[in-house]
Amino acid sequence: MTDFAGLKLAQPILRAITDEGYTIPTPIQIKSIPPLLEGRDLLGVAQTGTGKTAAFALPLLHRLAGDAGNAAGKLQPNKPRALILAPTRELAGQINDSLRSYSRHLDLRTAVIFGGVSARPQIQALTRGIHVLVATPGRLLDLMNQGKVRLDAVEVFILDEADRMLDMGFVRDVKKIVAAVPARRQTALFSATMPSSVQSLASGLLNDPVRVEAAPAATTAEKVTQKIFFVPKEKKRALLSELLKDKDIERVLIFTRTKHGANRVARHLQENGVHSDAIHGNKAQNARQRALDGFRSGSIRALVATDIAARGIDVDGVTHVINFELPNEPESYVHRIGRTARAGAAGIAISFCDHEERGYLRDIEKIIRQSVPVIEDHPYHSAEIANAPDSGKRGPQQTRRPSHGRRNPQRGKRTARIAA
Ligand code: AMP
Repeated sequence: MTDFAGLKLAQPILRAITDEGYTIPTPIQIKSIPPLLEGRDLLGVAQTGTGKTAAFALPLLHRLAGDAGNAAGKLQPNKPRALILAPTRELAGQINDSLRSYSRHLDLRTAVIFGGVSARPQIQALTRGIHVLVATPGRLLDLMNQGKVRLDAVEVFILDEADRMLDMGFVRDVKKIVAAVPARRQTALFSATMPSSVQSLASGLLNDPVRVEAAPAATTAEKVTQKIFFVPKEKKRALLSELLKDKDIERVLIFTRTKHGANRVARHLQENGVHSDAIHGNKAQNARQRALDGFRSGSIRALVATDIAARGIDVDGVTHVINFELPNEPESYVHRIGRTARAGAAGIAISFCDHEERGYLRDIEKIIRQSVPVIEDHPYHSAEIANAPDSGKRGPQQTRRPSHGRRNPQRGKRTARIAA
């Protein structure tokens, strides 16, 4: 398995990655980092949640800082060496935060500029000098026109969420910005989708690019049969035991939010005669390996994991994923359920949702653009949770229709069986 050290990034960057708690690169990182380190152009089909920010940010920082991590060079006022363009201020801010984290052991300066706020502090940062500029197109053009930023020293140009950029009507702005960036440069373009407008933008920008893809979240979510069980927190373990009576659940990955939670669930299952083990960051490497080997060989039927620990798990034949607790980041839900239905196989994802998790469920349904069918026919169903005030008015008889989503063919169907 590839680790970050195998990707040949400078030591200070590897240290920052360790500080962040990343242990294993995500697929888009494995595919993007080597060609970007070689100086190739890149077309990345990936959306938020895949780890795409680090996929372009780490090689960028490596290039600016040099192999030893100390060669970022003198700052030139108003002349960044790298430009990252993002469609919204939220995304620009997030990218800048990530860059700051990843460059915390480097002598390297970054700044972010976007509209809707005073330009003065942004101009001051530019005048002091920065290596990397993160910007939204409108404000960048403004400040270019005022002579506060010059792009002729840009060596690396990254365009993030290109499809959204075009949807928001930034195409002319982007073209003006591109015209101000030297032709001799490295360019990467990321987009969640590849409509012809993005393809034609890409073909004008990129020079013999490597194309890399990470499965878009919606595709993953569509392959998996998903179910929600509204259940009070204190009944979750009983419901889990009930479900695991079904022999169709052959190999199940169970997710909790915390390490202690993972231990508790694994212990409970073990006491109830289900072979299980927990895997998380507090466990020694050999204990984790033992758990994984057991899960792979089938001697362990239920593996209980936290999100971070699960990133490195690559096991085929996971018949079910059970979210004992819903994740507080909706992207994690997509990662979790993607552990089943691998390599085209069908998979089932069951989620428990208690009173406090209604908001998480709402966020998840927004990003997967589906309503997850509710299973009521079990001894622990809670109508109160199903009808909770923040549920977006969804009652047990009425599955909420997402505002902009595709229809889920499963929507509203109810099965009498607890687990299928
Ligand atoms: P992104 O798709 O860039 O928005 O990243 C999604 C989330 O994944 C962010 O919270 C990152 O901090 C996190 N992340 C990125 N790469 C890794 C990794 N290799 N291991 C663990 N978490 C990661």
